[in-house]
Amino acid sequence: MTLSKRSRPYIIPEYSLTGDLLSYLNCGLQYRYQNKGSLPPSTPVQLWFGEFIHSVMEEAYLEWRDNKKKRFPWDWGTEIREIELEINRRLRARGLYPPPRLFCPYTSSDTKKGLCPDENHPHKLIASERTEAAINTWGQHLFPLIDDAEVKLKSIRNMPNYQDGVSRSNYYGITGVIDVISSVNLQSAPTGNLILNYIHQNEGLQKIVNNLSTPEYEIIIDYKGMRRPSIDSEVKLHHEWQLLTYAWLRSQQPKSKKIVAGIVFYLNELALSKQDIGELKEEVLNQTTDVMPQGLDLKAIQNWKQHSSVPPLSVHFKEQRSIKIIPVDQDYIRNALREFDNVVNGIESCVLSEINGNNITSSWTPTPNKKTCTACDFKTFCPNPDRKYTPTIP
Ligand code: SF4
Ligand SMILES: [Zn+2]
Repeated sequence: MTLSKRSRPYIIPEYSLTGDLLSYLNCGLQYRYQNKGSLPPSTPVQLWFGEFIHSVMEEAYLEWRDNKKKRFPWDWGTEIREIELEINRRLRARGLYPPPRLFCPYTSSDTKKGLCPDENHPHKLIASERTEAAINTWGQHLFPLIDDAEVKLKSIRNMPNYQDGVSRSNYYGITGVIDVISSVNLQSAPTGNLILNYIHQNEGLQKIVNNLSTPEYEIIIDYKGMRRPSIDSEVKLHHEWQLLTYAWLRSQQPKSKKIVAGIVFYLNELALSKQDIGELKEEVLNQTTDVMPQGLDLKAIQNWKQHSSVPPLSVHFKEQRSIKIIPVDQDYIRNALREFDNVVNGIESCVLSEINGNNITSSWTPTPNKKTCTACDFKTFCPNPDRKYTPTIP
């Protein structure tokens, strides 16, 4: 008697846009160690602040909507601090602790100094400067436009380079969470809204808005807890692909309207750290940024010396640098989807290589880069970091 062979289980690998695809693009080997090995990074500065600022903005919106806190600016000590502490409690419950010198987790009744400069809590450290600036700069213009927040989207696509008997599946799933969907009706759009002004002044968008067949359109918004990437950085492209793919995912939902633009808010631009200003100065000198300073801002940045304090920059310049508008059109969407298909193809090849018995380091390629490697938990045993790192006592 011949025994029948059990067929392989049918699985559709599912990829999250940010958790998998952008993460893999950052560094393939780090992605493998971090995600496929389920090891959370131990010093997740970027991760903590990203989660923190997203949740603070979401909570601030709910306060605005439900408690009718429509007057701006909000006061940090009496109106924003409570939100920050609540979000910090929630993140701690998930094992995410604020990295030192970024956020003061104490109240005025705490007597210990902790990692703060002194015992006079609360301190408005840089994470708090950013939340205050984000709410007071964009909140008042953004909140009235919000139609839906934290929108989970999912779809499937054909597996790129599918080979019967070799590929894991003939489809792959793609998921994403849109921070905010804004719905605008041109006939009743609020006047004097800063975000709509930016949208309507954007050259690439004017044609798209003028050609609308209905007065209603949507904008997809993503908050990033980072500074604006330079024009020669791959990250800039990756964020564009991300928003365009969100637009594709959203357009498949029956209740969606025409999506005309994606907006990325680079919230660190509203309160720069010394490291940020150093990087900005370099980009300004090399002309590798798309929002160049003028006049006093230019002088302040050119004259900035390492280790000196962050110079004051004009509100308009900070605003311009923190908003990035991505026009949505079918060709751009097609291109973004093609790029992500290639990324999935890359990840699938690495997975298959490992399934076929190759070890991790020969299956996944490291992408050394000073910024990523410095914050990487695997740098001491990575075969190809940007430079040699020696293990230190924690
Ligand atoms: S050290 Fe750098 S190259 Fe190596 S895994 Fe980490 S990020 Fe990638
Ligand atoms: Zn403190």
